[in-house]
Amino acid sequence: MGSGKVTSSSELFDFQGKHVTVAGLGVSGVPAAKVLHARGAVVTVVNDGDDARAREQAAELEALGITVRLGDGASLPEGTELIVTAPGWKPDKPLFLAAEKAGVPVWGDVELAWRLRGPEAAPWLAVTGTNGKTTTVQMLASILKAAGLRTAAVGNIGVSLLDAVLGEEEYGDLDVLAVELSSYQLHWAPSLRAHSAAVLNLAPDHLDWHGSMEAYARDKGRIYEGNRVACVYNVEDKATEDLVREADVEEGCRAIGFTLGTPAPSQLGVVDGILVDRAFVENRQKNAQELAEVSDVNPPAPHNIANALAAAALARAFGVPAQAVRDGLKAFRPDAHRIAHVADIDAVAYVDDSKATNTHAAEASLASYESIVWIAGGLAKGATFDELVAKSAKRLRGAVLIGADRALIRDALARHAPEVPVVDLDRTDTEAMLQAVREAKRLAQPGDTVLLAPACASMDMFTNYNQRGDAFAAAVRELEA
Ligand code: ADP
Repeated sequence: MGSGKVTSSSELFDFQGKHVTVAGLGVSGVPAAKVLHARGAVVTVVNDGDDARAREQAAELEALGITVRLGDGASLPEGTELIVTAPGWKPDKPLFLAAEKAGVPVWGDVELAWRLRGPEAAPWLAVTGTNGKTTTVQMLASILKAAGLRTAAVGNIGVSLLDAVLGEEEYGDLDVLAVELSSYQLHWAPSLRAHSAAVLNLAPDHLDWHGSMEAYARDKGRIYEGNRVACVYNVEDKATEDLVREADVEEGCRAIGFTLGTPAPSQLGVVDGILVDRAFVENRQKNAQELAEVSDVNPPAPHNIANALAAAALARAFGVPAQAVRDGLKAFRPDAHRIAHVADIDAVAYVDDSKATNTHAAEASLASYESIVWIAGGLAKGATFDELVAKSAKRLRGAVLIGADRALIRDALARHAPEVPVVDLDRTDTEAMLQAVREAKRLAQPGDTVLLAPACASMDMFTNYNQRGDAFAAAVRELEA
């Protein structure tokens, strides 16, 4: 199984005596500074902020002999040979413009981890996309584990890649890594070369950071660069296939599609409720291998079946047998606030998809149910709602709108679904969600689903999407009481 460990070390790097500037303290900056220092680099950390937390972290690093400049994240320290940046720092910052002028390379946390991995390091199976990354990476890890492989889901999912490649604690001696990568991380990862990688889908997101849709797509597409075995793309999302075509991959690397329809050769897809593989089988012109049933996917919503197929494709590219795909998918449990069924009350289902923070995610969510009372709204982040509403209109029993930018959704509903009753809640206090759920209950009829799929960020009313989903679940439980 698998195609062996990465032994090519041509891009491994000697840090001894190198002047490295670490841009940004925090979750990635502090461990980066420490490991670079330990490898003999002369490290300077620059940080925009100068608050109590930053001072505490600075003191810890200074005690090791690392220079820290607080309140000074803009200028390039003299003699810098390399910058290692926190992934979220925008590329148009003066520090990076100065670096470009001076010919100084810039790496993010993923690039650093990639360069620091040992010569016998576990290969990476990498996943990106606008939506579904975390779910897919978790499904992939579950499948790999079911195949008896030692693995971990790491990266943007909230687990440091640096810890994983350095073999810290539970990450010692892994066979393969299931890696979630964000577009920011990919932007700053020029030499990453995955065993195989998938781009799940591409819809406008984070465009203020990347500057344009083209730049966003280009950064996502970096995940395919140098792939050795498979570039996995979404047959229903042509932009992902275009990225495969543009990628410079290793000789023999295959393009593998996944589709919710019947798969062509070199694709995984669905036939009569069965997930099938027509890519990693003998004689794929004629043969297909059954992997699992749609009902093995949790939850079996269309977008989640797409996630399962992508995870299966990566696992199969690594040589995992069909049975492990089925076992891994069956064992998988989604994280909270992702199409989480909260309760059934009076034959109405209440579902929390608070993680649907953009229109593309909400569209997938709404496509999962037939008749919906939709709770939506929050911070739109520059999005428009016409397409989402037009596509979903026929499924809407009603809509309850909350949050700062709800007027944008209300106007789109007026344009594309004028017959759908809308409740517009002009309040942002802690009781607002309770009222939203009460209004939704009033609109719902037996057999309907009340779906929290806000299509917006939560920070106008809540700390984050978790708190928003918790508020929804608490309100539903109050209805039950
Ligand atoms: P990410 O890590 O990319 O944010 P998650 O797996 O956490 O993705 O899912 C986030 C939300 O995106 C889900 O709650 C769901 O609404 C939506 N979603 C998940 N998978 C897909 C997909 N393949 N296509 C579109 N939307 C999706």
